[in-house]
Amino acid sequence: MKTSELNSEFADFKKEVFAGDYFIHNISAGSTMRILDLEGNQAADTLFYNARDPSERYSATDTIREQGNVYLTDGSVLRSNLNNPMLEIVADTCGRHDTLGGACATESNTVRYDLEKRCMHACRDSWMLAIAENPEFNLGKGDITHNINFFMNVPITEEGGLTFEDGISAPGKYVELKALMDTTVLISNCPQLNNPCNGYNPTPIEVLVWNA
Ligand SMILES: [Zn+2]
Repeated sequence: MKTSELNSEFADFKKEVFAGDYFIHNISAGSTMRILDLEGNQAADTLFYNARDPSERYSATDTIREQGNVYLTDGSVLRSNLNNPMLEIVADTCGRHDTLGGACATESNTVRYDLEKRCMHACRDSWMLAIAENPEFNLGKGDITHNINFFMNVPITEEGGLTFEDGISAPGKYVELKALMDTTVLISNCPQLNNPCNGYNPTPIEVLVWNA
């Protein structure tokens, strides 16, 4: 865990993202972005792309292999599918973030919870809406791949199993990332009502950016 030296008063950009909304934004190399869990136990389902060529994007497998650990925290370097460093986590007051659990989708909601949950809003819908409403980012359906679930707690059991557990975040916890390339950030602030990871209560997050 590592706290930030940056002062939120001097951020160049700030936006509150309500639960169930998406956030799409370009940050330039050298800039620092903070994702702030305003009320605690929220999940920010996040994808990253090379802003100059979105066919290069965040890769969970490359990131996990290179750092030799499945959890993300300060010091983690997020790698692309070309194994290039994209961003580095430079501060983290939550302590652990997931990149194994994937995002909620209406289809997986029916498998995990109940057939009648199919109509409920899911992160994949928010991402699809984001790319449809913002064609200038040149993203398509096929670009929706590996993601990070900031603030989400998916511990591995001794047998190697995945478990979705109560969140370990709390109001005011944050994670901060420094961009190592010009990066498109796509976040779904998870609307999930069936998962203990966000306490069954989706809440807003805030995104802050300090430009390079
Ligand atoms: Zn979700």
